Amino acid sequence: MSITANDTNRKSWLQVPENSDFPIQNIPFGVFLTKEDVVTVGTRIGDSAIDLGALQQLNYFKGIELTDDMFMQDTLNDFISDGQKTWRLVRNRIADLFDAKNPELRDNAKHRDIIIFNMADVEMQLPVLIGDYTDFYSSKEHATNVGTMFRDPDNALLPNWLHIPVGYHGRSSSIVPSGIPIHRPMGQTLPNGETQPVFGPSKLVDFELETAFITTDVNIMGESIPVGETEQYIFGMVLLNDWSARDIQKWEYVPLGPFLAKNFASSISPWIVTMDALQPFKTSGPEQVPTPLPYLQQTGDHSFDINLEVAIQPENAEATVISNSNFKYMYWTMSQQLAHHTSNGCRVNSGDMMGSGTISGPTPNSYGSMLELTWGGKNPIKLSDGTERKFINDGDTVIMKGHCKNDEVRIGFGEVSSKLLPPFVRK
Ligand code: CA
Repeated sequence: MSITANDTNRKSWLQVPENSDFPIQNIPFGVFLTKEDVVTVGTRIGDSAIDLGALQQLNYFKGIELTDDMFMQDTLNDFISDGQKTWRLVRNRIADLFDAKNPELRDNAKHRDIIIFNMADVEMQLPVLIGDYTDFYSSKEHATNVGTMFRDPDNALLPNWLHIPVGYHGRSSSIVPSGIPIHRPMGQTLPNGETQPVFGPSKLVDFELETAFITTDVNIMGESIPVGETEQYIFGMVLLNDWSARDIQKWEYVPLGPFLAKNFASSISPWIVTMDALQPFKTSGPEQVPTPLPYLQQTGDHSFDINLEVAIQPENAEATVISNSNFKYMYWTMSQQLAHHTSNGCRVNSGDMMGSGTISGPTPNSYGSMLELTWGGKNPIKLSDGTERKFINDGDTVIMKGHCKNDEVRIGFGEVSSKLLPPFVRK
């Protein structure tokens, strides 16, 4: 089926501000709460939120096989579970309905009032009920930087790294959408030069610039999916700030890997940008040397050219951009990650989320964490208000943005923005 929704000549009758991340060619999916306290699945064009539940009730999806309440839900799991054919039919229909040349909804003021909201009047929710969350570690630059700081510069990459998309299982219980503040975690650390650990607030709270992909039902237990087939099971992507406490991490991560240093909070952008919308931005990734084992080998372009940036906004001050990176720097592709994930028969379900791992580029201004940007706190970053940061302070808001752009279209993710609060106090 052709993806007519991607037609770059199409214009919408809804207004789209210049440089918007959400032209009619994007058509992402999310879940929002209206002022009337109704939760619905929706999409977005420009600064308009579109209620897909209302569109379905008013029969605008006729001819597409959908369960009656497909969009009148508080998660996208059922829709994602329906598979790629349904996603394409629905995106194509939405593009057609909001096409400037189509009067069907454009000229029906009563229906427009029911279906369309101002983005400022809705509250974005988590788009999916995330059953399982896996986080990879797939940026060679990031793994090298962290290995250099935490272990040994001469053996920064462990011997398995160039053969395996290394990952671990995270917690889905603490994944929150953009806008929800995070508390500085408490934890056990070993202060520098000491032999006995202490318990208290983490002193080294950090962000990790990542993206994540959301899957449909991929396999049955025991089944592995060949790398050449994995892409059809990936619904779309979001921005991910994988909050990390470096002092807790350093003390706890040997021998089993990250635990409480990572699972206190992970923030995601609320709109899932579909892989279909991202197709025009496929590009090649880094050359893989040595050649991976056959079950991870693929030909052609499987990375994506997604510009990423991170800013810190102190309380009552302007935001300062502190990093510019790109998803295309990732060594392992999402299709390789998913093939590897199912290679032992591990089941992957609709609504599962897989983090890319911190996305660090080759230059110091493209590193994806404070740990790397300040090199463990040795080189503080100066913000535009004159203050310095080694890590994230209480009251700081971390803002991540991402977009793709070519001569014809800009497809973006919006942002994931979250404020760090002092440790939680029980009332
Ligand atoms: Ca991570």
